[in-house]
Amino acid sequence: MQKFDYLIIGNGICGVTAAETLRGKDAEASIAIVDQENNPLYSRVLLPNYIEGKISREALFLRDEAFYRKNNIVFFGGETAVKLVSDENKIYLTSGEEIEYGKLLLASGGHIAKPSIPGIDLKNIHFFRTIFDADDIIETIKQIKELPQEKQKIVIWGGGFIGLEFASSFAACGIGGYVVIRRPYYMGDRLDADSANLLSSFIENNGFKIINNSYITEILGTDTVEGVKLNSGEILECSSVGLGLGLDLNSDFFAGSGLKITKGIETNERLETSVKDIYAGGDVANSFQPSFGKHLSIGSWTNALFHGKIAGQNMFGEKSSIDFISSYSGVYFGINIIFMGDTSADKDTITVSRGENESLGGGTGWREQFFFRDNLLVGATIINRSKDRKIIGELIKNKNEIKNYLELTDSLKALEEYAG
Ligand SMILES: Cc1cc2nc3c(=O)[nH]c(=O)nc-3n(C[C@H](O)[C@H](O)[C@H](O)COP(=O)(O)OP(=O)(O)OC[C@H]3O[C@@H](n4cnc5c(N)ncnc54)[C@H](O)[C@@H]3O)c2cc1C
Repeated sequence: MQKFDYLIIGNGICGVTAAETLRGKDAEASIAIVDQENNPLYSRVLLPNYIEGKISREALFLRDEAFYRKNNIVFFGGETAVKLVSDENKIYLTSGEEIEYGKLLLASGGHIAKPSIPGIDLKNIHFFRTIFDADDIIETIKQIKELPQEKQKIVIWGGGFIGLEFASSFAACGIGGYVVIRRPYYMGDRLDADSANLLSSFIENNGFKIINNSYITEILGTDTVEGVKLNSGEILECSSVGLGLGLDLNSDFFAGSGLKITKGIETNERLETSVKDIYAGGDVANSFQPSFGKHLSIGSWTNALFHGKIAGQNMFGEKSSIDFISSYSGVYFGINIIFMGDTSADKDTITVSRGENESLGGGTGWREQFFFRDNLLVGATIINRSKDRKIIGELIKNKNEIKNYLELTDSLKALEEYAG
């Protein structure tokens, strides 16, 4: 049996950053990373650029194989952790190997949820999470481009960021279709109707029809996708389906190990879990956010990166706390969309929104939505107005009291006025 001072499950940005942080602090410690994928770290954020042909496959990689050797990090690539036995400080792998750890970081992320509906295993149905998913999507796009024009269609199921990634990547390759969403409007769990309408106009101006209040009950076809059936009975013809129904945690191996699981593995602000010697970070964690006084489960690149740093520092024995305001930022159809801080409204949250929808989808429309609790700005959604990102981040972080928040509905009022 092998034994490591520090063992990390997950070779994503969180796991690799934690390993680098630990190596920076302790030259002698034994460190290992386990990942079911057998790749050096790559960028999931850049996968759409790879699909769109803007960058090569090689350009996705943020580390090479030599990185692990040079830093004396043992990489168990292509090995899945199947069981965590926390009272013995042990992880079991698919190969049957047992690994004992001093400290363990769970940074296993998640996978796109797979609905149990007829036809779900037909060809040309896609998830969008890994480099292999991206390779498969590129193949499907090539096939679709060979078909007659009227068959060059994808149906995207899901009204979140992954739905947007699908839509903008396929649009960039000249393929449109439908976006099926359960809610009355796009990202309806976070956006107000005006913001959602602006976003929807960008999606629809780029070749997609949004079908709201709907879901897919069956995927049609014999071998390959030919269409989908909606709950209304309507049939949409298409040659591919993209699934963006949210993340399920990669949690099988730690179920029953005593960890407290809520919307993720629950941690305190130092990313310590409820079980001794075990930390959790990145997409799989539901971490306590001191700025907001509550736990949040956040699926974003910068959040996972900062978690990696904090987890590494604390596994080494320091006492670092989460002190950053997390954000998700992406560019779709040339439009920048940013979600910052806590955008989950509850009964104590007041939201105000401002912007200009006049040139809907024409590129100049913009909207911002602000989330307030106790006269403090706790979160914001920003569509096509990235210049306000910095000041909004400062207002959230510095906790400037904003009593006259209704004034923010005035689109001309500068945010700087509230920072003083
Ligand atoms: C297409 C796409 C675009 C995105 N765009 C943006 C963006 O623009 N901005 C942004 O902020 N965020 C974006 N994100 C989200 C961001 O990429 C993630 O939040 C981030 O990568 C999470 O990192 P992580 O280290 O927590 O988890 P992951 O990167 O998911 O890493 C977890 C690793 O654990 C491994 N693993 C899981 N279970 C096991 C097991 N049992 N045994 C061994 N290994 C296991 C997995 O194989 C995986 O490699 C995007 C994501 C995708 C998919």
